[in-house]
Amino acid sequence: MNSWPRVFTPTVSLPKFPDLSIETAQGPRNFHPGHPVKMYVCGITPYDATHMGHAATYLTFDLINRYLTASGSEVSFVENITDIDEPLLERALRDDQDWKELAADQIALYEADMTALRIQPPKYFVPATEVMDLVSQAITKMKERGFVYTVDQDLYFDVSSFLPQLPITQEQALAVFSSRGGDPDRSGKRHPLDPVLWIANRDNEPGWESVHGFGRPGWHIECCVISLRYLNGEDFMSATSGDFLIDIQGGGSDLIFPHHFMSSAQAQAMTGQPFSYSFIHTGMVGLDGEKMSKSKGNLVFVSRLLLFGVDPMVIRMALLSSHYATDRMWSSDLLDSAQELVDALRRCLSREEVAPTTPLIQEIVAALANDLNTPQVLSLLSLWIQATESGEIGGSAGEIARALDALLGLTL
Ligand code: ZN
Repeated sequence: MNSWPRVFTPTVSLPKFPDLSIETAQGPRNFHPGHPVKMYVCGITPYDATHMGHAATYLTFDLINRYLTASGSEVSFVENITDIDEPLLERALRDDQDWKELAADQIALYEADMTALRIQPPKYFVPATEVMDLVSQAITKMKERGFVYTVDQDLYFDVSSFLPQLPITQEQALAVFSSRGGDPDRSGKRHPLDPVLWIANRDNEPGWESVHGFGRPGWHIECCVISLRYLNGEDFMSATSGDFLIDIQGGGSDLIFPHHFMSSAQAQAMTGQPFSYSFIHTGMVGLDGEKMSKSKGNLVFVSRLLLFGVDPMVIRMALLSSHYATDRMWSSDLLDSAQELVDALRRCLSREEVAPTTPLIQEIVAALANDLNTPQVLSLLSLWIQATESGEIGGSAGEIARALDALLGLTL
């Protein structure tokens, strides 16, 4: 599927970029300037695009993409669309809408939001409904390797040999599995945590012909095959290098288990290779002290803010004010502060003389290299604004404007 338009990125004049270091649950992961990076980010299920949690997540991976690109790395970036899944079908049924129409409307809205926020698009933007043959082949491969079994007519993945890699305890995993698409209590399963790979057709549900019967895939196998195929080419199932198949799998922290754990386990089952060098997760976004959720009806949508005339660069600045990995609260105060900072930066950038900018850019790069410390970046910008407004000179407004655009996606 065509993704949204790429935006122009100026170059950042800096002699040397430090390694980008990201703290992950597996420990610090370093990305060396100039090395190619394969990045896969889990995309939306198109029925509630694009709330602030989505925006915070895709902004984070955009910052990684921008940093690595500015430092000379070639980033292969792939994102999926989960355009066949229970929540989408349930919403379509509730609203008496065709599920394909609902998905198409929501994807268009998401693309418009990403464009407004200046998020660089992925190289491949892949809906799950376009990879049914690949999913089918992947299941066949895992079946040959002994990881697949049948309950009634549904196919399940035998996860038992990967349980030592669980990022949380088995008790914790069991507690959240059913709220995140799992069915721990289904009788006939070998292990409660085994996820479904292929769901035999149910009444009135969409399905696809395959050697495994008419049906549709489970969630995790979709991301597994899309990431492997679009980052490793058509021969992905016969990889033998022993290296990680991809460098980054990213998404919200609610994807740590089961989604990222299961896609990794299935990729290993299919290829015998380690899956991802790093798993990078973003914190959850709440509203005014409460968890933001569909059930509470308190989701804040990017498109609504834009409709009310909020500048997308102010939304972007507001999202930068918290560290990506922390759970944070969204509030109108956050937008007001971001608006003040954007206004102050614009005032400074329109001056003929500004405070020194070369050391500022070096400090911004160092803060980003240190686990994307965007709150520190905003503090550095505030200090520079103060220095400029108190009459310091010696910098170049053009130089800092280009750096803010390239590294932070802020076009002021
Ligand atoms: Zn995914």
